[in-house]
Amino acid sequence: MSLNKPKIVVLGAGYAGLTTTKRLLQKLSPEQAEIVLVNKHNYHYESTWLHEVAAGTINPNQARVMISDVINPNKVRLVYDAVTKINKDEQRVVLENSEIEYDYLVVALGFESNDFGIKGMAEHAFAIEDIDSSRLISEHIEYQFAKYNSQENVDDDSLNILVGGAGFTGIEFVGELADRIPELCKKYDIDRNKVSIINVEAAPSILPMFDKELVAYAKQSLEDRGVEIRIGAPISECTPEGFIVGDDKELIKAGTVVWTGGVKGSSVLGASGFELTKGKVNVDSDLRMQGEENIFVIGDCSWVWNKKADRPYPPTGQLAMQEADVVAANLSALLTNQPLTDFVFNDKGTVASLGMSDGIGNVFDDYKLQGKAAAAMKKVVDNRSLFLMGGTKLVLKKGKFRPF
Ligand code: NAD
Repeated sequence: MSLNKPKIVVLGAGYAGLTTTKRLLQKLSPEQAEIVLVNKHNYHYESTWLHEVAAGTINPNQARVMISDVINPNKVRLVYDAVTKINKDEQRVVLENSEIEYDYLVVALGFESNDFGIKGMAEHAFAIEDIDSSRLISEHIEYQFAKYNSQENVDDDSLNILVGGAGFTGIEFVGELADRIPELCKKYDIDRNKVSIINVEAAPSILPMFDKELVAYAKQSLEDRGVEIRIGAPISECTPEGFIVGDDKELIKAGTVVWTGGVKGSSVLGASGFELTKGKVNVDSDLRMQGEENIFVIGDCSWVWNKKADRPYPPTGQLAMQEADVVAANLSALLTNQPLTDFVFNDKGTVASLGMSDGIGNVFDDYKLQGKAAAAMKKVVDNRSLFLMGGTKLVLKKGKFRPF
């Protein structure tokens, strides 16, 4: 511990890290602790909006927020640098350009795409991971359309968009594409029938977190808008031309190939030698890393057990923000020798968008929503997230108000 006051270092300014920092500022006086927030970029981004950035249905700048606009740099030391390793024996974090010591650490470094070692996936497929990787996808799709009519040898496959994995990310992404592609066809004088949007899923169904009725609605809505959904079709390889799928090794060709087949916690966890379960750190009920007194791990980096359902909680922004509340309370408790609180998730429901004006959701203790009502609810959820980060001012600046 430093001579004057304990140093709390928060790694990552996603939903988990940014909310922790905000709550710490509310709970602790400047005399009680020094707070440091480390983030790779000088901005936070709404990771649940990335599928829209990737499809090109929103501007990337709408999905990002300057950290110094929502965290007072006079009260928190902001360090913009990438974490490469955590050395917990020395209570030190190694960054690309410097090192930083801590007394208490909050690891909230978010997710990375997980390709499960599928051959060629890392080399040939795009992934929706952050602002830059998502923007690259929308730019690539637009480039395929822009060059189509000026090609000497027309390659119809170049317009196809292939998406691997029909979980939350895959389905929300193809939903946006169903809105975006007609706009691109109009802009570049291309017949909509020349473009295929194909979502390939290994499991016998899409969106396993929703009940059958909502899943059937989502599937029908997407198919009606020209998305081809292929279930029971495991991808075994990705080549420069597309995916190799199923037992008969069918090659599905496309000019744009995106992998949305799963995520894992930040690779910093493994590089730091932490014990991992499915790429994440096991935490105790007070959200501290097992066996550690001064390290909390939250958001997509942590494996938090849901005792009631006997499985881990699925990672969501909602979960990350609630974890952040408990971590800030527990850090304050540690500094004042009070007992720590256990994390209990208060599930307010889940809504998946299927483009700008459609969606499905389970909210308020299993009340089901579909269509425009779900899409409207999704916008409420997204605007609420902005409100929690930066109040009304941020909602007015970045919020989603476009009519259907
Ligand atoms: P996921 O793991 O939820 O879904 C991946 C899908 O890819 C699965 O359906 C899986 O069967 C399929 N898949 C895996 N390997 C395959 C293969 N070889 N061939 C074909 N299909 C394959 O991943 P995700 O959608 O990125 O979501 C990750 C987590 O983040 C989930 O827990 C999700 O609920 C959460 N999430 C939440 C939100 C939100 O709340 N707004 C948004 C996105 C993601």
